[in-house]
Amino acid sequence: MELNYHHHHHEPHRSQNSGWLRAAVLGANDGLISTGSLMLGMATAQAAPATVLLTGLAGLAAGALSMAAGEYVSVSSQADAEHADIRIETRALRDHPELELQELTQIYVQRGLTPELAREVALQLTAHDDLGAHLRDEVGISELQRARPVQAALASATAFTLGALPPVLLGWLWTGPGLAMAMVLVTTLLLVVLGYAAERVAGGGGFRGAWRVLLWGSMAQAATALIGWLFGVSVG
Ligand SMILES: [Zn+2]
Repeated sequence: MELNYHHHHHEPHRSQNSGWLRAAVLGANDGLISTGSLMLGMATAQAAPATVLLTGLAGLAAGALSMAAGEYVSVSSQADAEHADIRIETRALRDHPELELQELTQIYVQRGLTPELAREVALQLTAHDDLGAHLRDEVGISELQRARPVQAALASATAFTLGALPPVLLGWLWTGPGLAMAMVLVTTLLLVVLGYAAERVAGGGGFRGAWRVLLWGSMAQAATALIGWLFGVSVG
């Protein structure tokens, strides 16, 4: 049955399934821009290769943990709000079932059903799963989209780490001169790829996304390179 359904119904719905993918691409973008720029600044300040690498590793750890913490806090407060709503609805359904039925009926009337049909739908859905119906159609919470703080924190830390890895690996493997130039090339190239991917995931053509990311990534790199260069000149 399910296979059949998918077979006959094969239009892509970008807004539903691209949420986590978009978040992953943005997290990787973050890791790439911040770590690449940080290491570029150190490289232009003529820091020793080991110092550049250590800076990259520290930036990776700090960034991934800060992303995880921010995501955990934000999704946790969302989960708290959901739990509060679940308690409110559970109590209301227990104490005033008839009022809750009217409320649900009214929601379906507003969505375009006739009062009779809305009442019938509300009755059947209440009999099937009253709390689920109220959470979904009144509050807007569905089981699929429940807030999951730990998963969200792990996902954004992982995405950031994946984005930060290329510059860190470059700093580790690059032994000769010209590390700063190599860092700019690798970071810029990957930023264009990620920007393109982000826009494709969102359903766009890709090139506008690539340009946007390129612009901001270049500004970040120019700023840290300038700081590194000024510092390198004043110390050296
Ligand atoms: Zn309700």
